Amino acid sequence: MKRKKTRLSDTHSSDFTRPSQLFGAHVFTLEEMKTRLAPKVWKNIVDAMQLHCPVDLQYANEIAEAIKQWALDNEATHYTHWFQPMGGMSAQKHDSFLAFNDKHKPIEKFSGKQLLEGEPDASSFPSGGLRSTYEARGYTIWDPTSLPFIWQTKTTKTLCIPSLFFSSRGHVLDNKIALLRSEKKLRQAIKRLLKYFKIPHKSVCSQLGIEQEYFVVNRQQYLNRDDLVMLDKTVFGTAAAKGQELEDHYFSSIQEKVLSYMKDFEDRALLLGVPLKTRHNEVAPAQHEVAPIHENAPLAVDHNILLMELMRSVAEEHDLACIFHEKPFAKINGSGKHNNWSISYDDKINLFDPNNGLPLKIFITLLVLCIEAIDAHSKLIRAAVGSASNDYRLGGSEAPPAIISMYVGEELEIFLLQIEKKKISKKALNEKSKTKVKTSFEIPEENTDRNRTAFCAFTGNKLEFRGVGSSSNCAFFISVIQVAVADKIQALLDRLEKKSKKDVDQQLLDELSLCLKKSKRILYSKDNYSKEWIAEAERRGLENIKKSIDAYEVLKEEQTQEIFKDILSKEELESREEILTQSYAKALMIEANLMADLFQTKILPAALMHQEHTAKAIALLAEAQVPFQAEQAEYLRNLTQKISDAITCNKELEQTLNQADKLTYEAKARVLGELAFVKMQLFRKRVDELEEIVDDKLWPLPKYKELLFII
Ligand code: ADP
Ligand code: MG
Repeated sequence: MKRKKTRLSDTHSSDFTRPSQLFGAHVFTLEEMKTRLAPKVWKNIVDAMQLHCPVDLQYANEIAEAIKQWALDNEATHYTHWFQPMGGMSAQKHDSFLAFNDKHKPIEKFSGKQLLEGEPDASSFPSGGLRSTYEARGYTIWDPTSLPFIWQTKTTKTLCIPSLFFSSRGHVLDNKIALLRSEKKLRQAIKRLLKYFKIPHKSVCSQLGIEQEYFVVNRQQYLNRDDLVMLDKTVFGTAAAKGQELEDHYFSSIQEKVLSYMKDFEDRALLLGVPLKTRHNEVAPAQHEVAPIHENAPLAVDHNILLMELMRSVAEEHDLACIFHEKPFAKINGSGKHNNWSISYDDKINLFDPNNGLPLKIFITLLVLCIEAIDAHSKLIRAAVGSASNDYRLGGSEAPPAIISMYVGEELEIFLLQIEKKKISKKALNEKSKTKVKTSFEIPEENTDRNRTAFCAFTGNKLEFRGVGSSSNCAFFISVIQVAVADKIQALLDRLEKKSKKDVDQQLLDELSLCLKKSKRILYSKDNYSKEWIAEAERRGLENIKKSIDAYEVLKEEQTQEIFKDILSKEELESREEILTQSYAKALMIEANLMADLFQTKILPAALMHQEHTAKAIALLAEAQVPFQAEQAEYLRNLTQKISDAITCNKELEQTLNQADKLTYEAKARVLGELAFVKMQLFRKRVDELEEIVDDKLWPLPKYKELLFII
């Protein structure tokens, strides 16, 4: 008898939809707009998306009507301006489309004014002193560079209008505006550079691919730990017998429960136009990574924020919890958000690709200017990735140290050093890559370099910034990189264009050589996690700012104000410094308070109960006249000592917290970052020692062995 052949698809559900069909289905795409708008209105939006011009106000009603119809066709009942306040992910305030017409009949209404401008009561968003609570008004304004979309939950559908957030006096209150302005500044600089090199081009834009690392744990276990619920990290917890030493998690097969969660959030992200591409298990147990295909930086940031929000909410539906904290568990790897960044023109040619067919000098100039920008603004870059939570990760053995360094690969480094010594022929600079350069250097076509221990690595056709924290909104970090690089490009061109038009290649070589002389100190091709590098970096005069709080002051410095000219004002930069400092202090304060609370109300009672059981057991021995058991008495003494030590640590930490309470945020951040931090570490050590000996059944918190290995 012939056997029926089972097709692979028989084992799957019948409602299969291809990723390409899901992609953008919940987005008011340009194609969709084209069918609903007059050509000139549509063209205006396309131009606005390219940052060429604002949207013409006279079209507002027509656009709003089209968006409303599309939203209603897709069953949305409400709309919201969706924006990214400083110090947070995203914010929204929903309004129904419901309104009444002249005859007092209920209708759905959405006007141009409602599209263009929202007015949330902004008093509860951080403003860093830019807006007092008595003038609580803030404005959200439609950001036409990012397309409207529908956010769907189990029971609701809401039209989201990506927006920018200003104070009533026009101050920037969000993360997006500076990023868009930095994009504009970068594009202008690159266009000027291409023009200088006589490369015809139409459009230029940044590309950003954000790798997002995260942990996934069982939701019930998560809910049983106040520290995870409130802070997304464990403040106590001793390592499980097995950690990541077997290196068996990285790229291993993904457990079914996690995989089905991934598939679910990926599908929903695809609907929102987030072009997700890769998923895999990361190094630590319960750690994973997701990465999209790179896009223009501002859009990539929007998508990253949307993705994180989706990941959190979809986890709940799968009885899981998604953790973005940079260091949720001690003694195993923390999570980063690697920012892969490059610049392309005419939508296809990557200027960071040495084999892009353009004269090599363009790639080299851009790379050298990036090195110069990163070196010159290292403290600002450090501040931009700074947070209390990322401080736990940077400098651990799984993440770059707080030293801002760059890895370009040994061969490329040798080539750059030849440029510095002006030993490269002008012919070589003009060589079109692909035809190999006749030096000791050949640019590898494939990115084979896997040394990723530096803060920033050139990985063949892009820069990969590894220091960015997993829980952060990377908009400000990318803004810093973009304005710093744009500034160096403009400065170089200012110098070059002043010179005679004679030996231009020699002039370029001289300039690049000068840049490298100053900045090559950040290049390091060996292991950046090693002690040797820490010492070597110090010899080279590079800063190693371990605590973010020590970097934030750079936002008030003149050099920062200069490169941020027309992007963020002095006041706006200062407000950022204030917000960062406050967040730093608050995060540590919450952490310290949580430790005290968990200890006093859960851990100490459990430890005392264990002590009581032990003491009773020993007393029973004595009663039964069993000969004196020295080991058991010693055990009890030891346990009692450990409990007392932990009580002392708790008391000392509380004293420090009380002292800090009266201080200004800046002083508080310092006291917490230095004094309290050390006390918290010791406290944790003491409590973890208790966890190792207290009866498992009495221990009040889920342990690492349960959190990390039982899903
Ligand atoms: P890896 O883990 O090896 O670093 P992944 O595939 O996880 O690589 O992520 C690489 C990220 O870099 C992706 O988001 C990808 O789209 C992005 N990327 C690739 N090429 C570029 C480029 N030219 N510019 C910016 N990002 C890029
Ligand atoms: Mg990756």
